[in-house]
Amino acid sequence: MASNQGAAIAAGKVVTLHYTLRDPAGNELDSSATGEPIQYLHGVGMIVPGLEDGLAGKRQGERAKIVVAPEDGYGERDPRGIQQVTRDTFPPEAPLEAGLEFEAEGPDGEPILATVVSVDGDEVTIDLNHPLAGQTLHFEVAIHEVRDATAEELAHGHPHGAGGHHDH
Ligand code: ZN
Repeated sequence: MASNQGAAIAAGKVVTLHYTLRDPAGNELDSSATGEPIQYLHGVGMIVPGLEDGLAGKRQGERAKIVVAPEDGYGERDPRGIQQVTRDTFPPEAPLEAGLEFEAEGPDGEPILATVVSVDGDEVTIDLNHPLAGQTLHFEVAIHEVRDATAEELAHGHPHGAGGHHDH
């Protein structure tokens, strides 16, 4: 093994990377390119499972294309996620219109991202599916850094920024 190769991505590593996410047609859905790279702790489910699996074993400096099927990404679309609610479900100041994304409560009480589908008078149709549910995800990643998580990061289950210092 070449001596200039850094540690491979595995459980317990803190990984810093830039990514661009596209749909199968090549349209950009999301990207870190205009801001700071993202940082995550590998092996704890901070990122979608298919991306985490695809990154395992990769090293600092590598670039990769990782294609993630819906079931390994944000899940398949569930038709039961389309629901009718009344306008008073939302705060009066909410800018209610089709396409508005808002935080709702999932089946286990966890916060989930939901979308307003349409507004018809007092009736609001919402979609509790993640906006990327049912979508095959095409990630392009550039791995900037792979380092061991500190004991504190492992205990907290998340990274603590550059060098692992505690900032909260
Ligand atoms: Zn912490």
